[in-house]
Amino acid sequence: MKAEESKRFHDLWRGDADFRQRFLEQPEAALQQWSMPGEASALHAFCVEQNKQGNLQLAGLDEQPGQQAYRAHNKEKRVWLKNLYAYEFGDHAFSSWRLRQISRFRTQVPDDWADRNPHIPFVVELTNGCSLSCPFCAGAAKSLDPSIPAFTATQSFFEGLISRLQQKVGLQQAPGVLYFFTEPLDHPEYEQYLAAAADIWGMVPQTTTAAWFRDEGRTRRLMKLTEGRGMPYNRFSVNSKKRFQQCLKTYSPQDLLHTQLVLNYPEAAGAPLYASGRGRQMDNTIQGSVACVSGFLVNLPLRRIQLVSPTLELERWPKGYRILEEASIANLKDVELFLQHCHETRFNSVLHGRSPLLLRSDLQLQQDNNRWFLMNTYRRIPLRPGEKSIIEHLAKVKTVDDLLEYDIPGLSANQVFNRLNTWWANGILED
Ligand code: SF4
Repeated sequence: MKAEESKRFHDLWRGDADFRQRFLEQPEAALQQWSMPGEASALHAFCVEQNKQGNLQLAGLDEQPGQQAYRAHNKEKRVWLKNLYAYEFGDHAFSSWRLRQISRFRTQVPDDWADRNPHIPFVVELTNGCSLSCPFCAGAAKSLDPSIPAFTATQSFFEGLISRLQQKVGLQQAPGVLYFFTEPLDHPEYEQYLAAAADIWGMVPQTTTAAWFRDEGRTRRLMKLTEGRGMPYNRFSVNSKKRFQQCLKTYSPQDLLHTQLVLNYPEAAGAPLYASGRGRQMDNTIQGSVACVSGFLVNLPLRRIQLVSPTLELERWPKGYRILEEASIANLKDVELFLQHCHETRFNSVLHGRSPLLLRSDLQLQQDNNRWFLMNTYRRIPLRPGEKSIIEHLAKVKTVDDLLEYDIPGLSANQVFNRLNTWWANGILED
């Protein structure tokens, strides 16, 4: 099979439960219905087995006979994305803060979720709210505010802002994006911002859009524009089976070869809804977060900047990300002041005597078979001898110096201090 045909099959399998059933029962007829060519028998045997095992995502499909082209395509994409997110920050203080956020998140979620999160260092929202109003919106985006600033009115501030963010973290090429809990195509001049960002950041921001269906011509031009400037891998969010079928009828397998379909509806395979944002009011959700920024989040119309990082502490942070700092930015001087403030108060890489000490609220001390652990929804972090006593003392103290006054059985003060710093670097302590 050609790579685009395999991908079309994979998308159909994931996105359409009726196709899955039909393919299992009458493989040739199911392929013909979608004008898919090919010899179905090897694929069919694989799918029957995977279906029995509950592997509805069909992981390993590209390892099967006849799937060499798809395998090569996926490998190339993996390498490309790995390079895209292999940041090398020139600013060590920011880099160490961000690494702490990555470690912190890793101690809250399963490994594959942690591996997938790019922890983008900065994003800019171009609108306030979102026109899609998805019932499951993990960021609980409000309705779109129709007063959308024109590109020409904000260009100078926007360009100054994004070059300063890039300079602050010290990246030669900066893979920021121009949406968060907003829809990029809600801005009628999104493409102009995209081109301006590409000129400054040295690469085209990746686009994820749930409004791909509104104006086919615009969507196709956008895909061509981004591909022409070196960003082939965009994403379409697909929020219902009806939209899914519309997408496959509108765009050919070749059109969608490089476009990832993010399926967000119940009958799609492997599409969990998270109990964050509006998802908190829905049934059949699981604890999770789709937030993917460890760094600066800017809303351009609101002229607001925040320092954020993803989290699963959903009682405290119901949208799945922590807001550590926030400021209004009327001009670039305000941006400068905010960056300076974050540098002085947040991007500290080690603990000192007066550092506040607090265990993260999602971690509970628990015993299992004579061993002690810190546990939360998905993780169990084993404690070494003496560490349980440190954890118990944390409830009685305010600072590092306070804790070092206590005798911790089996550990010298130096060893206690080192353990605290290791926990700090791993995001176990509240920051
Ligand atoms: S999930 Fe995305 S597209 Fe839907 S309302 Fe939220 S931000 Fe908008």
